[in-house]
Amino acid sequence: KNVSDAFFRDELQTLAANGQIDAFRGKFLDMHPYDQTAFFMELPEDIRLHIYTYLSPEEMAAIMEHIELDDIKPLVTEMDPRFAAMVIAEMATDDAVDILNELRKDVVVSLLTIMDDKNADEIKELLHYEEKTAGSIMTTEFVEIYQATTVSDAMQYLKAEAPEAETIYYLYVVDADKHLVGVLSLRDLIIADSDVKIADLMSDKVLSVSVAEDQEDVARMIRDYDFLALPVVDFQNHLLGIITVDDILDVMDEEASDDYSKLAGVSDVERPKDS
Ligand code: ATP
Ligand code: MG
Repeated sequence: KNVSDAFFRDELQTLAANGQIDAFRGKFLDMHPYDQTAFFMELPEDIRLHIYTYLSPEEMAAIMEHIELDDIKPLVTEMDPRFAAMVIAEMATDDAVDILNELRKDVVVSLLTIMDDKNADEIKELLHYEEKTAGSIMTTEFVEIYQATTVSDAMQYLKAEAPEAETIYYLYVVDADKHLVGVLSLRDLIIADSDVKIADLMSDKVLSVSVAEDQEDVARMIRDYDFLALPVVDFQNHLLGIITVDDILDVMDEEASDDYSKLAGVSDVERPKDS
């Protein structure tokens, strides 16, 4: 039974409409968030409004991450603002920023006011970056570690950080002033002896991009070097964020359609945003 089955969809919708929350949650959350999204996007508004009250902000955030940016605005607007703020706070910061960039300024301000300070501050930082730069697509959920740390302490630390991190495959090494000084992969870490220091394990030839770098150049670099992620630094080489390969796929889509529009002679004004 899955979302492509019309009977299953009807059954789920009936459970939602009748307020059979536990039964609904059981069947709904059993699906992959991508399928949850496919079901959700077919629903009429009154049922969507029910569902916002059945799901936790975290569960709703997982769905939001699969919704096209163009479709998100009405959803955020119809949600209770407190719930919307919590959902956005649960999302990866780069996705949260993409959504906020679609909303009216006053809506953004009120959502950020409701949100807890830690999440609001991270998002506010990212909102400042110029469109189509590395800064505008990076996320701040990365794992950073100090050179003096041992492998076993690094493993403990990674375990604690993993639930929030966008990727745990690379650990970026920073000095006391948060300058980026090295990198190692999870593979490097788990095959090393537990009392080895990170300084002796890391590679100090770490490639990074500047926050101001064009997203197209970042895409090219990730592709050429076959990395799963790249660190983003400011002009003093402070580590600010990472860009992961899934963000790069979105960039490539966007740039391909930009190029297509140019070829087809469609002006920027006529072209719908982000299509
Ligand atoms: P390998 O390709 O060696 O089998 P892997 O497939 O596990 O390793 P990769 O993603 O290919 O991992 O990374 C290989 C190496 O590249 C890792 O040891 C990692 O430390 C290094 N690395 C990762 N990111 C960067 C970076 N930004 N700059 C330089 N080196 C990096
Ligand atoms: Mg490799």
